[in-house]
Amino acid sequence: MLDGSSVRYANFDYAASAPALRAVADGLLDALPQYASVHRGAGALSQITTHRYEQARETVRRFVRARTDDHVVFTRNTTDSINLLAHCLAERGGDIVVLDIEHHANLLPWQRLSGTRVVTACGTVEDTLAALDAELASKPAALLAITAASNVTGEVLPISRLASIAHRHGARILVDGAQLVAHQPISVVSHGIDYLVFSGHKLYAPFGAGVLVGRGDWLDEASPYLAGGGASAEVGADGAPHWHSGPARHEAGSPNVLGAVSIADACTALAGIGFEHIGHHEHALRERLDAGLAALDGVRPLRIFADTDNRVGIAGFAVDGFSARTVACYLADHHGIGVRDGRFCAHPLLARLGYPDGAVRASFGLGTDADDVDRLLNALSELVSRRD
Ligand code: PLP
Repeated sequence: MLDGSSVRYANFDYAASAPALRAVADGLLDALPQYASVHRGAGALSQITTHRYEQARETVRRFVRARTDDHVVFTRNTTDSINLLAHCLAERGGDIVVLDIEHHANLLPWQRLSGTRVVTACGTVEDTLAALDAELASKPAALLAITAASNVTGEVLPISRLASIAHRHGARILVDGAQLVAHQPISVVSHGIDYLVFSGHKLYAPFGAGVLVGRGDWLDEASPYLAGGGASAEVGADGAPHWHSGPARHEAGSPNVLGAVSIADACTALAGIGFEHIGHHEHALRERLDAGLAALDGVRPLRIFADTDNRVGIAGFAVDGFSARTVACYLADHHGIGVRDGRFCAHPLLARLGYPDGAVRASFGLGTDADDVDRLLNALSELVSRRD
């Protein structure tokens, strides 16, 4: 067991939730004493808070390079954003195509709808694109809903090419950016994305707020995701509502202003750091971690695709002779290292990769350094040497 507090905690669970950046924490402390209700108050604090909230939309819009007429809807998280769009699709109809490698957040909301078709990802990105192309050609679909980066392996999918395939067959594309937006630049316009979703807590902002950015028509045609104040422009004496269009339509109830402002602060901070710098930092750590894992006897990396080296800072792996839980507990209890074990809300993928009981995931970000990686590797080496 750890013998005291002198050991620095090494956090390798950024893919679950990335700790808030200092600038985000400072912005939150700044906003906390003076926030008030948005949109309806005449008082100064309401005005300031409304301004901050609406500015946050614009900051997010710029960060993801969205179209000027896209809606930027604040939600609770990625799961909520996808359920919101699924609600719209349930009303308008049309098939949905998804891959079997998705996080449950981008699988289960669609499986509630009758027209959802799940395509099995092949061993290569190229074959997977061909399989999606064939699926969309075989029968029209309204939407291709796909992750930008796997939360199990970190492998990044070619978003522009996926968007072209969807559009060629008359479908729109939803990109689950939960694992990408903090690590690589994304452009709604140049990637050809129709809908992009992500969570604040994976973007170095706190829990409780997420984003759905995308085309306004489907959102405005659907009934509000939640009924209530804020979504309604007018309610007649008979109780009949006239709903807003625009983001407000799907933001009934008092919104999570501080969460939205924190997401915007995180966007500003990441833009300031720059994705070139972030890319170099993460690439160096990833190379170090991959090389170290490869050198360990009986440590097996998880991969979906044989033909891509583009990955965010996520390494999924299994250790021969030890359950994922044993590995995670050993690292935590003996070395103060936090990794994730389990099936990462991607049960079909883990089963298909041959790990129905789960695997280990080490994920990192801006607060991780080479010493952390070396500590993880040394600790794993120690564990492996105990195997009989
Ligand atoms: N999509 C991916 C790829 C994820 O990794 C996650 C969370 O791990 C989600 C969706 C769901 O995110 P949230 O729990 O913030 O809704």
